[in-house]
Amino acid sequence: MTINRSDERFTICLHESGHGTAGIILGGRVGGILLVADGGLAHVDELSPDSHAFMVAAGPAAESLAADHEAPDTPQASYQDIATAEFPEGTDRSFVWSCGFADVEGGLRTAKSDDRSLAEWAIGGVEQYPEQWERRIKLARRVAAEIVRDHEAAIVRIAKRLFIHGRVTGDEIKQLMRGQE
Ligand SMILES: [Zn+2]
Repeated sequence: MTINRSDERFTICLHESGHGTAGIILGGRVGGILLVADGGLAHVDELSPDSHAFMVAAGPAAESLAADHEAPDTPQASYQDIATAEFPEGTDRSFVWSCGFADVEGGLRTAKSDDRSLAEWAIGGVEQYPEQWERRIKLARRVAAEIVRDHEAAIVRIAKRLFIHGRVTGDEIKQLMRGQE
């Protein structure tokens, strides 16, 4: 499947921008974000398990911004093949967080959906207490929604850069978060 419609592509950009922005807000290290044929890849590491869960939830949470923001009026960037996608030198590919893929070859972590990852975190350590699972999911979604709300302008700026260029580095993400174009 290849996504070509610009509104769908921009929603993916917002989603990945949500992961990247939350990763930095939560104190992690973000190597960059890439668009690929049917989704995107965000490199985020150095997060605690809880912060990682909040970062994961921020991707889907940022998709809500598509209701108020439109894709740039420019041609879409080309995108990379997932098997050969290039991250900055030194990137530990085992920490690349990918969205929308299954069983990715080439050293990338076998991708899980964001929902599945969140569910595993929510259950981890409290397998005996199912009533806690939903509470933890709601917590992660609430934290993610707050991050998206507080950083809406930055997430949109990063998503637009990603839409136009097909990739954005961690340094560019930080610049865009400071309000620099
Ligand atoms: Zn995602």
